[in-house]
Amino acid sequence: MLGLVVSSLLLLFPSSADAIEIKKIPAKFKPLTKVGLEFSLDSKNQNIQFLIPGAKSIVLKKKYTNKAQIGAQFLKEYSSYFGLKNTQATKLIKSTVSASGVTHLKYVQQYNKVPVYGGEMILHIKGDGAVSAAQGKIAQNLTLSTKSKITAKKATELVKKYAKDKLAITAPATTKPILFIYNPITNKPTAKDKNVLVWVMEVDDVDYGNLRTVFIDAINGRVVDSMSRVGAIYREIKDCNDVLGGGCYITGAPAGLSNGRIEAGAVASAADVNIIFNNLLDAYNYFRDNFNIFGPNNRGGAGNGVDVATDTLKAFARYVLPATNKFAPCPNAYWDGVEFVFCSSTANTPIIAHEYMHAVTQYQGPQPQLSYEQQPGTINEAYSDIFAMAVQKYALNWEPSWSMGVAGQAPFRNIMEPWNTHNPSKLYNGYFSCDPVWDDGGVHRNSTVISYAAYLLSKGGGFNGCTIPAIGLDKVTQIFYLTLTQYLPTNAQFSDLNRNLPLACEELYEHDSTECNALRIALQAVELDQEWPCPAGTKTEATPVCALPQVTLDENVLTPNIPTNTIITAPTNNLSDYVVPVIQTPAVILLPTTSTPAVFVPAPVVDTGDKYPSFTASVSDDGLRTYTIEGTFNYYGTKSGCTGPRYFDPIIVAWGQVDTHPAVDGNNHFTTTHVYNVKNSEYDISVSFINSCFQRTTKTFTVHPKF
Ligand SMILES: [Zn+2]
Repeated sequence: MLGLVVSSLLLLFPSSADAIEIKKIPAKFKPLTKVGLEFSLDSKNQNIQFLIPGAKSIVLKKKYTNKAQIGAQFLKEYSSYFGLKNTQATKLIKSTVSASGVTHLKYVQQYNKVPVYGGEMILHIKGDGAVSAAQGKIAQNLTLSTKSKITAKKATELVKKYAKDKLAITAPATTKPILFIYNPITNKPTAKDKNVLVWVMEVDDVDYGNLRTVFIDAINGRVVDSMSRVGAIYREIKDCNDVLGGGCYITGAPAGLSNGRIEAGAVASAADVNIIFNNLLDAYNYFRDNFNIFGPNNRGGAGNGVDVATDTLKAFARYVLPATNKFAPCPNAYWDGVEFVFCSSTANTPIIAHEYMHAVTQYQGPQPQLSYEQQPGTINEAYSDIFAMAVQKYALNWEPSWSMGVAGQAPFRNIMEPWNTHNPSKLYNGYFSCDPVWDDGGVHRNSTVISYAAYLLSKGGGFNGCTIPAIGLDKVTQIFYLTLTQYLPTNAQFSDLNRNLPLACEELYEHDSTECNALRIALQAVELDQEWPCPAGTKTEATPVCALPQVTLDENVLTPNIPTNTIITAPTNNLSDYVVPVIQTPAVILLPTTSTPAVFVPAPVVDTGDKYPSFTASVSDDGLRTYTIEGTFNYYGTKSGCTGPRYFDPIIVAWGQVDTHPAVDGNNHFTTTHVYNVKNSEYDISVSFINSCFQRTTKTFTVHPKF
């Protein structure tokens, strides 16, 4: 029994048709796959929903510095992949620049100048002009007439009548009607798939304390759809009374059984029901206050609008799992895609918040889904544990438990000390499971590699030879949430998480910020940047980069021989300032970022040959103060097997800015610009590549800005 409890807290996705993952990539996307771009498709119409550069970059044929122009150029070249036929029909409606310099552009789809409800494109453009992600939901088959036969005045009357007759609102108030094109299937998967010209109004639903959005057919005046807008929470908990195969009641329970609880209803007699009722509110409020979402689906609840209303949070308390249930026996808990299910004794904040987060991941994470097996499933589980701690901290206003468990038993997952529950703390660890079948590929067992990184980053500490600075759980969850909702691809692997967490961090903080430096150390410490260790015993663990020996050079002290793989920090960047008999390569040289780096390559012990990274680079100017730096990358070093990583490369350092890292495209080309705002006769711009043996090649250019 206990053995099964160890692998408890499960999640189940519905097997509905629209949740099927895309396996075959249609040929029309070849130009994108050829250059290494990553995307997910809408399973219904095979258009792109989400596109990211992956390890490559989104290359545009024309270069602009103005972000709106970059956005327009992107739409021109790429929007047909999203199913947008006519880019002229798209209107930029929102442009925001975050503190980090990332510009977020939102476009609404239009047809005959009428906006499409929910038809949109969202672009994220980094400060250097690189498109870092694009999302689109584009309505198809728009062939309708856009001339309304019902006037706005008449539509308002019809909505008021509907509100009185159907919503029992005695004195309804409405907003000004706006003409849209609307397809009801976007709200209810079972609705008819048809584009309709509608008047859209919000009606004040005073009886329920919330608003409803009503859609009136602009041709025949019928109500096409009505949906609850963000409003008060609505919870519905059935008490299953620990009765196998039934006994679940909200009201009207027969003698000997007890009722559940609904919003504004009476307190239940079973403690489990009330705990679930209260903790769902904690989770709801946590995500509302921190991420501005109202319920996991951001439509008020967790329902899909078919089995469970979208504005409802529905749960079963004291449920008994029949032996045939995948998750049997109790105690266990799961999210089944639309409802939360809890056995007796599993009603506690971390478990309830863990399941709530599975619903958030389903609705807000990568679409169609972050699958629930193997590596994506492990990421899914880790996210649920991390956010379970965040909700617990929010609810308690105190330090979370950093463990998952049920009453009366030892914890089954210790996030603070994973080894205590036989969970791995890093990729190469005896507790890491390489079994592709058991626990759906180790989704629960291995999740602690990721959640432990989040713990280390939150609280700080020493691990695996590395020292991780604490940045606090609030910043950790901000970084992880942005990664989940904006960066992770569908079916993300550990390597995707490792690559995207720092990207999201850089959007929130600076590249060289305390937060992002600490994050990189935490990821290295748990070895998330290392090769996937399975099958067990076939791969070799490397020393984490953050655990390499370090030495700081001092002008006044003789530094002894420096061994290989040492990170060298130099207060000034001139090697001749120091006395060092031998620097054994490979070594990493950390130069001061405030001064202009000189070409500083340690003498290799054996042969140089073509081991160092090779590239060409040039700098041109606009005759004023804008400099374009471009070049072509040749290789990282062919003799010694020194390869990437190319993630940070090239590193471009120009006076007056933090280093930038333009992406290298499929043709090994990179380009970026830098503007000098301070008048000075000359500046240096340097371009560097570093290979996996930590050998650096740097080219420096002296420029003379003209003002
Ligand atoms: Zn789970």
